[in-house]
Amino acid sequence: MDLTELTIKQAHEGLKNGEFTSVDLTKAYLEKIKQSDLNAFLSVTEDLALEMAEIADEKIKSGNFGLLCGIPCAIKDSIMVADEKCTAASKILENYSAPYDATVISKLKEAGAVILGKTNTDEFTMGSSTENSAFGVTKNPHDKTRVPGGSSGGSAAAVAGNLACYALGSDTGGSIRQPASLCGVVGLCPTYGAVSRYGLIAHASSLDQIGPIAKNVEDSKTVFEAICGRDNMDATSVDYKFEEEKTGLKGLKIGVPKEYFAEGLEPEVEKIIRNEIQKAEIAGAEIVEISLPSSQYALACYYIIGPAEISANLARFDGIKYGLSEPGNDLLDVYLKSKGHGFGAEVKRRIMIGTYVLSSGYYDAYYKKAQEVRQLIRQDFAAAFEKVDLIFCPVSPFPAFKIGEKADDPISMYLADIYTIPMKLAGLPGISVPVGKIGNLPVGLQIIGNHFQENKILSVAGLVESKE
Ligand code: GLN
Repeated sequence: MDLTELTIKQAHEGLKNGEFTSVDLTKAYLEKIKQSDLNAFLSVTEDLALEMAEIADEKIKSGNFGLLCGIPCAIKDSIMVADEKCTAASKILENYSAPYDATVISKLKEAGAVILGKTNTDEFTMGSSTENSAFGVTKNPHDKTRVPGGSSGGSAAAVAGNLACYALGSDTGGSIRQPASLCGVVGLCPTYGAVSRYGLIAHASSLDQIGPIAKNVEDSKTVFEAICGRDNMDATSVDYKFEEEKTGLKGLKIGVPKEYFAEGLEPEVEKIIRNEIQKAEIAGAEIVEISLPSSQYALACYYIIGPAEISANLARFDGIKYGLSEPGNDLLDVYLKSKGHGFGAEVKRRIMIGTYVLSSGYYDAYYKKAQEVRQLIRQDFAAAFEKVDLIFCPVSPFPAFKIGEKADDPISMYLADIYTIPMKLAGLPGISVPVGKIGNLPVGLQIIGNHFQENKILSVAGLVESKE
C-alpha cells in the first residue's frame, strides 16, 4: 500500500486500526518529497514534521483523537508557522522566519496535524501560475511542461502529486480554486470572514481568505471545519460554526450566468461544464439562467482595488522592519535598493499601479469608481441568490497552460481569473471540484454559494465530483 495515496479519512482509519503510525505516514511523504522534481515545496520542515508525528502517535495511542490527528499536510509559504521560514516566495523575505503561528496553524496543531513544509506560490501570492515565485516555477503533476496554476500552485501540486495529504492555500482572486482546477484536486475558498487571516502575509486584505486544498470534497470539509470561526486577532472574522447539511440535487435551483459562457472560454472546457449542468438537471435540479452584468468589469475593478491594498500592505517591506535590507548612502537609498532588489516585476507593477490609483487627483477616477463597481457586482450576486440556491460555472477558461506561455503577458495571465474574481469581490464562497479532463489535463467546475453557505456548496460538490 502506498500510504501517500490515502485520503484523510482513509489515513485516519489506518491510524485508528494500528495499520501504520503517523511517523510511518510522515516518513512516506518526506521520502516522496525528496524524490519529487515538482518544486512544490520551498522548505521542508522535516524536524518539525517528525516531532509532530510523534506527538500525534501518543494521542492516537490514548484513543482520543480527531480526523486530522497524525495526518501530514503542506502549508502555503504565505502562512506563518512559528520558527519556520516564511518567504511568500519573495527575495525580500528569503531569510525571514515566522515569529508566531497563524491562527489556522494553531488550530491545526491543536487538531494534531503534521506539517511537512511550506509550498511554493507566486511572489506575495500575486499570479496564476507560480511563475512569479522568486524560487522557480512549480510543475503540474499531470504534465510537467505545464504550470500548476497559482498562486497556491505549490499546495495544489503537492496534493495532486501525493506529496501531502492536504494543504492550505489562500485565495484573493482565485488562488485556491484556479490551481485546484488545473491540478485536478478540490479547492475551497471560504466566505470572507469565515477563516481568520491572522498570520497570513497580506496581499489585498479585503479579499484574502485561507482555505483547504484536498483530494476530495469530504477531506475539504474536514479541514474547513477545523480552521473556520471567529478569532479575536482578526476583526473581520465572524462567529461561524460549520454545520453539515445534506442538500440533494432534486429541486435545487442552480443558476448559470449567461455572461460566463462567452468568447475566451475554451470550447472543450465549456463542453465539460455544460455536461455537468445537464447531469444536475437530469438528477432533478432546476437550471435557471441568471445574469451577472457587472461581472464584465470585475477584472478591471480587481486590478484597481487589489493593487491599492497591495501598495499599502507592502509598504512595510522597507528594508528596515522586515527581511532584506541593503546598505545605502541614506534612508532613501536603503529603500530603493532593498525594494528594488527584493521585489519581483509583478509585485513592483502592482505597487506602482496601486500607488497611482490612490494618488490625489486619480483617487476619484480609479479607486472610488472601482469601489462603486464592486458594490454593483455585490448587488448582481445578491439578486441572483434571490432566485437560485447555487451557481455553477467554469473555474478557469482553459486547462493548465505551458510554462512560459503567458509569463510575458500580464493581461493574458490576469484573464485566467475571469471566473474566480467576480464572486471574490462580493465576498462569496466557492469551490473548484474536478469533473473532467481534456487529454490528461483536469478541469474543475466552480460552485458558488451565498455567504456562509459552505455547507450547501460542499454537499452538492460531493455529489458531482469525479470519483475516478
Ligand atoms: N491570480 C490573481 C492575482 O494575481 C489572484 C491571486 C490570488 O488569489 N492570490 O491577483
